[in-house]
Amino acid sequence: MSSTRYSLYALARNALTGHRHWPPAWRKAAPRREYQAVIIGGGGHGLATAYYLAKEHRIKSVAVLEKGWLGGGNTGRNTTIVRSNYHLAPNAHLYEFSMKLWEGLSRALNFNVMYSARGVLNLAHTPQELDAFARRGNAMRLNGIDAELLSRDEIRRRVPRRDGAGRFPVVGGLLQPRGGTARHDAVAWGYARAADAHGVDIIERCEVTGIRVTNGAVAGVETTQGFIATQKLGIAVAGNSSRVAAMAGVRLPIESHVLQALVTEPVKPCLDTVVTSGAVHYYVSQSAKGELVMGGDIDGYNSYAQRGNLPVIEHVAEACLLLFPSFSRLRMLRSWGGIVDMSMDGSPIIGKLPVRGLYMTGGWCYGGFKATPASGFLLAHTMAHDAPHALNAPFSLERFAEGRLIDERGAGAAPWLH
Ligand SMILES: Cc1cc2nc3c(=O)[nH]c(=O)nc-3n(C[C@H](O)[C@H](O)[C@H](O)COP(=O)(O)OP(=O)(O)OC[C@H]3O[C@@H](n4cnc5c(N)ncnc54)[C@H](O)[C@@H]3O)c2cc1C
Repeated sequence: MSSTRYSLYALARNALTGHRHWPPAWRKAAPRREYQAVIIGGGGHGLATAYYLAKEHRIKSVAVLEKGWLGGGNTGRNTTIVRSNYHLAPNAHLYEFSMKLWEGLSRALNFNVMYSARGVLNLAHTPQELDAFARRGNAMRLNGIDAELLSRDEIRRRVPRRDGAGRFPVVGGLLQPRGGTARHDAVAWGYARAADAHGVDIIERCEVTGIRVTNGAVAGVETTQGFIATQKLGIAVAGNSSRVAAMAGVRLPIESHVLQALVTEPVKPCLDTVVTSGAVHYYVSQSAKGELVMGGDIDGYNSYAQRGNLPVIEHVAEACLLLFPSFSRLRMLRSWGGIVDMSMDGSPIIGKLPVRGLYMTGGWCYGGFKATPASGFLLAHTMAHDAPHALNAPFSLERFAEGRLIDERGAGAAPWLH
């Protein structure tokens, strides 16, 4: 277990010896034959679940099984935006709970996750869109979430380089000032280190290839490093949710699609907030390194490949130049893709599955990074109590059979539209 507390004193002490004696942030654990709880997936959600199981529920015999390396899935591929600007009450409560955890996360984990409350601004391009934003902003305020409706002139002052207009003039916008960004890798590393300090075994290069079910209950998992017995199994595998759940005979209302993103070459600070436009399918922020990080919609076909096609990149570049013509002089540095698990109502599934001892967090579509702390906390609660917390009770799998959809966008069972 890593025991060094990160502090100014530790930094100074290690500086005297040339930084050669820092202990590894987490151990390379070998799998044991049995654990009280096993989590499949070493992304932010799986690691957070393990951490809260150990810390909040004192379940010390926990393993996280990751087929690749920690944070190599969507956690390390996302565009790092965190926010809770939702209209529907279950979403508002869930994501606001996550925002509150973000605000204290660096201190709680003793690891700087670089949460930056730089604001998330949604641009409205028509009076009707602005009306809808006013309604959402009012709903957010009623739920205790910060929201400000901005005029066109206020936006011009806040985002001076947003000088484009074209077919999409900006008429106003909705700002969540506490929204912003966090450093994605740091979130995985911070949770991994804190979970390891609580005794969790983190096992990389260990793919789950089967789930053993005996008399309707989980008995363990088959892995590339052998069989591991457990009676509590949590699935946190993002774009692979339906494939892994199918190993236990569970069919999920989820489709997997590629979502791409790209960054430009780094430049001096020029954009100090996150800007999004639903009308042109575009969002952008500037990373601490100076790169402009941007993305758009999913590729419209099902896929498990972690790479997409050029038309979406072209669309994102077009949308960028429509809103920020001056960015045309920047060169694209790299682009990548991740597999997102699109649910039929655009909202996640966090809870029990119809096999005793089997639980999941998934179906996060475009937006699960911001939910990482809440998702882990709530899945851990559900696994420890074999019953959901009030905040994740609405996000059960049964809602699809019972017609209690949480359809924020009103798009219906059309995953590619959420
Ligand atoms: C391009 C892009 C941009 C995004 N931007 C944002 C954003 O700005 N804000 C936001 O909130 N969300 C965003 N998201 C969504 C967000 O990244 C995800 O919802 C979130 O990171 C999911 O976290 P996770 O821990 O569940 O998944 P992951 O980080 O993908 O972790 C799951 C892990 O499970 C492992 N795994 C899978 N199958 C198995 C198996 N059989 N055995 C063992 N391990 C297995 C995988 O290797 C992976 O490491 C974005 C996603 C993408 C792709």
